[in-house]
Amino acid sequence: MMYSSTRDKSCRVTAAKAIAQGISAEGGLFVPEEFPAWDLKRLSSLVGKSYQEKAKAILSDFLTDFTPEELSQCVESAYAPEKFDSENIAEISKVGEKAYLLELWHGPTCAFKDMALQLLPHLMTVSAKKTEPGKDIAVLVATSGDTGKAALEGFKDVAGARMLVFYPEDGVSPMQKRQMTTQEGENLSVCAIRGNFDDAQTGVKKIFTDPEILAELEQNGWKFSSANSINWGRLVPQIVYYIAAYTSLVEQEEIKLGEPVNVAVPTGNFGNILAAYYAKKMGLPMGRLICASNRNKVLADFITTGVYDRNREFFTTSSPSMDILISSNLERLLYELSGRDDGEIREWFGKLSADGKYQVPAEVLQKLQAEFAGGSCDDEKTAETIGDIFREYGYLCDTHTAVAVRVWEDYVKKTGDETKTIIASTASPYKFTADVLKAITNEALPEDDFAQVSLLAEFSGMTPPASLLALKEKPVRFTGSISKEEMGAFVRRQLGL
Ligand SMILES: *Cc1c(COP(=O)(O)O)cnc(C)c1O
Repeated sequence: MMYSSTRDKSCRVTAAKAIAQGISAEGGLFVPEEFPAWDLKRLSSLVGKSYQEKAKAILSDFLTDFTPEELSQCVESAYAPEKFDSENIAEISKVGEKAYLLELWHGPTCAFKDMALQLLPHLMTVSAKKTEPGKDIAVLVATSGDTGKAALEGFKDVAGARMLVFYPEDGVSPMQKRQMTTQEGENLSVCAIRGNFDDAQTGVKKIFTDPEILAELEQNGWKFSSANSINWGRLVPQIVYYIAAYTSLVEQEEIKLGEPVNVAVPTGNFGNILAAYYAKKMGLPMGRLICASNRNKVLADFITTGVYDRNREFFTTSSPSMDILISSNLERLLYELSGRDDGEIREWFGKLSADGKYQVPAEVLQKLQAEFAGGSCDDEKTAETIGDIFREYGYLCDTHTAVAVRVWEDYVKKTGDETKTIIASTASPYKFTADVLKAITNEALPEDDFAQVSLLAEFSGMTPPASLLALKEKPVRFTGSISKEEMGAFVRRQLGL
């Protein structure tokens, strides 16, 4: 299978090249030229299989330049039982009559990004070997919290890879900071930037394109790569869990093979819900895809009006991983909906970077609305929803998941659509302890993070993830901070340039 760029169809690469390179030279995103077909007969072959077996079967359709042995090794290392606190890798909790919460947060960092970032480093090192033999990869990441930690855990002690993570000194939660500064592994470093997330991000982009650093890198046998969510290697593992979840529901006799399900996803960069759309394109029986935004509802508005407009106030919310005004992976969806028209994509995304705004024509909007429903939920409703489902069902969810639950409930009320629904649960409630506690109790909160964790455990009876509790005893390895001007020198030092 070959991949082409959304902004220049004539640019065709293998899966390994797409993953090693990350983004196409002219700024487009790599997409598969066709989607493998998974009819009911093929789907039924997955019923009863382990998550790892399902993953190998699905990934082998997309990563045709990987040998079965390579793929098997990648999958077994990524989804090793000791890395996840569930032997099923993802769990499904039924809440009420027709909602299935797909818990994607049983990995080492307690957020759904682990599902992809546990696999990506393995895919990337194999890809680098195929495309640039003899070189090691240096991965630079600017993070506002979740991605950095998940990438660190994924790349920890992976041979042939070095990882450097930059985070804004005052821009992450105390638990997120602790997760990163106590990170173990010999091949990585974490560094605080005196500035905000944009400073960190801009600094990383500058280094990626600095001709002097690139030349030194080349001489020393290194190659830069990026672990952010536009990399195909982060998207393809996400297709797996939708197909795996559907076949698990068949195993559990909750649905019949062939019965359509809806999907609701708390959305930021549009990676997670795009994977659901791809699974549907492949033949997974799915009805409506419900795209849930928080107060930064640029996507919900787009689905309603066909106008994408990022010129608006940016809000900091209780679901910070969805605080985003440019959803990069939407480009991949629009490529499909436009009939794979790379010219139109160039035009729309050119307008987005020039004016912060573009509008799709009526026929594209129609196709969009046939597949997707959009909705949004503010912090107040998010808290209300966490409280409601906790009291009614004894089930505790995090703030991001609650956004999806609420938008789905609103959708059902509005449309009367009673289809069973998989709701993506993207983080452990213990990752956003303060907001979750506030939603279920009026008690004053203790300041200390771990005291909050104990309090939440007391209230909910739900065991906190061992990986978060263990942080309390772990020594801080990475201290101090640098200015954004010092980032280049830091990278040189770390890579021995
Ligand atoms: C990243 C993230 C999201 C948003 O996912 P996208 O793929 O960017 O749409 C939602 N919830 C949590 C907890 C996240 O970390």
